[in-house]
Amino acid sequence: MKRDIVLAVDLGGTNLRFGAVDSRGRIVLRASAKMGTYRRKSDLLGDLAGAIDGFMAEAAALGRPRAVGLGFAGCTDSSRGLIYFAPNVGGFKNIGAGPYLERRLGVPVFVENDANCAAVGEHWKGAGRGARSLFMFTLGTGVGGGVVMDGRIWRGAAGTAGEVGHTIVMAGGPRCSCGNRGCLEAFASATAIVKEYRRLKRAKGRAAPAGRVTARQITGLARRGDKAAVAAVGYAARGLGMGIANIFNLLNPEVIIVGGGVSRAGRVLLGPAVREARGILFPQLARFLRVKRATLGDDAALIGAARLVFPRLK
Ligand code: ADP
Ligand code: MG
Ligand code: ZN
Repeated sequence: MKRDIVLAVDLGGTNLRFGAVDSRGRIVLRASAKMGTYRRKSDLLGDLAGAIDGFMAEAAALGRPRAVGLGFAGCTDSSRGLIYFAPNVGGFKNIGAGPYLERRLGVPVFVENDANCAAVGEHWKGAGRGARSLFMFTLGTGVGGGVVMDGRIWRGAAGTAGEVGHTIVMAGGPRCSCGNRGCLEAFASATAIVKEYRRLKRAKGRAAPAGRVTARQITGLARRGDKAAVAAVGYAARGLGMGIANIFNLLNPEVIIVGGGVSRAGRVLLGPAVREARGILFPQLARFLRVKRATLGDDAALIGAARLVFPRLK
């Protein structure tokens, strides 16, 4: 008999990833695409259903697709399959993704916040293995977060716990995708790094670099000592350091994991971020701070989404 597989989907502000995952957390088939830009949530959902349907047809050769686990970059109520607000995905509100996709696909669909999925993935198979508690930061187009407490994801009353990206690290600070000012996301996301780099270039009277510049290119430039790039990465690191210190003071997790595309920057970002956090924390407590880079890379949310779905299969 064919093995059961879960179709895991990781929908971010920039990247859309698919993985057919077996019950041991192995990804037996994968696919990825760039996210389109959408003006209507019905278009987004229509395209998403089509893409999952296509992937499911391919995956059926390798196993029995039992359900979809969708990690979505937005504040999510997983009990209703509803995304309340997705500032980095069209700015859409109240996206009824779960019920819509179930109707279209004919399999159970479980919707969860993307960073919660990543936290569960890293806890199961990555940098958080064996930890009783952890907090995961995901640094991508936006900044997400997930809490694992006593080995289980902590969702909070309405399902939206862990939204660290919209905790404020500077009163009256830079504008965030959500409309507020001074959110962590306005410092430590790819979007913020690009914005700050461009601002610094303009301030120096130099034309902003032609064409698109990505956070990935900027951290590469920073490693080679480019001044504006070093400053833009330093700006992200200060914000992230404050976020790490706040989370440590609030939750005192055994380990704090930093993942998402921007975490690939590595030491150039995490070094100064951890120094900033240690400088904020009481010295008596700072020695307990453990910050690790995620080890699952782009697979974290896929593996975590599947981990959350398997026990719910009937
Ligand atoms: P999302 O989940 O929001 O779609 P990802 O977590 O996939 O985003 O991360 C994509 C972002 O990560 C891109 O903006 C890319 O420029 C950035 N990125 C990738 N590699 C690096 C790097 N080495 N340094 C900084 N940013 C990076
Ligand atoms: Mg993502
Ligand atoms: Zn915000």
